[in-house]
Amino acid sequence: MDGWRLVKSLTILIALSIVGGVLKIYGSVVGGSKSVFVDAATSIANTIAILMILIFFREGMEPPDIDHHYGHYRLAIGGPISMLMLYSFVAGIVTVDLFDSFGKAYRVSYESPIYASIAIIPYGLAVMITKRLHPIVYSYGGFTAIELIESTISILSSLGGAAISYIIDFIGAIALTVYLFYELVKSLREIVIDVSDIAPIDVIDRIHRVAKDFGANVERIRVRRIIENIYQGDVVVRVEPSTPIEKAHSVADNIEKELKKQGIDIVIHVEPSNEPKQK
Ligand SMILES: [Zn+2]
Repeated sequence: MDGWRLVKSLTILIALSIVGGVLKIYGSVVGGSKSVFVDAATSIANTIAILMILIFFREGMEPPDIDHHYGHYRLAIGGPISMLMLYSFVAGIVTVDLFDSFGKAYRVSYESPIYASIAIIPYGLAVMITKRLHPIVYSYGGFTAIELIESTISILSSLGGAAISYIIDFIGAIALTVYLFYELVKSLREIVIDVSDIAPIDVIDRIHRVAKDFGANVERIRVRRIIENIYQGDVVVRVEPSTPIEKAHSVADNIEKELKKQGIDIVIHVEPSNEPKQK
């Protein structure tokens, strides 16, 4: 998917997210449900998060320049990081609110489950759109799917709160908050792995295979994931010592070009096969 279509899809996502968020906020304010409030707060964070992902993704697409020789790809990580920040902020607010109202009776009316139910429609559409987007948005998609699960829990618990007792609504709110913390920890781990210069086995295998296809033996590979399906690194290959320099150069060139097509940006160093191993 090209950058422009992505921006268009993300714009639709933001619009859907705003509609869903506003419906939930209205439902929680008018109906008094705590669980719909938690749900609404994460919706607002969600909307801002998509905006941040959009901004950082566009920055990440900028070509290399004088102060970013390897490209700007990793700026895109600003998206997931701001998402983490926004959800942490919400987690703090709802935790304080729940502590504050612990043990105090309140009234939940049917507006809460009704508006939370209507909000499912825009979020359902958003999840469907997210599934077709660039991998960088997947982490956002995870949170949107959670929005749907959260909606279901907030609808059921606020319905219970209106029909039976506020305690059911309160338990729903606690469950949503606990889940939010769990997701925060999970996302943090994912982001840390994303910036850890990981070298996936399948990428290493691909480099070996391509080098072999062009008649070179791989001596050493150093590769790391920059972001999602973009890799950079350097490779040492060995060729027969009798190989003319033009031939050796074209072998290296062909390997580089083929790998580049697959999103692997590699610099190749060629050595004659009888040279003592480099340490
Ligand atoms: Zn730059």
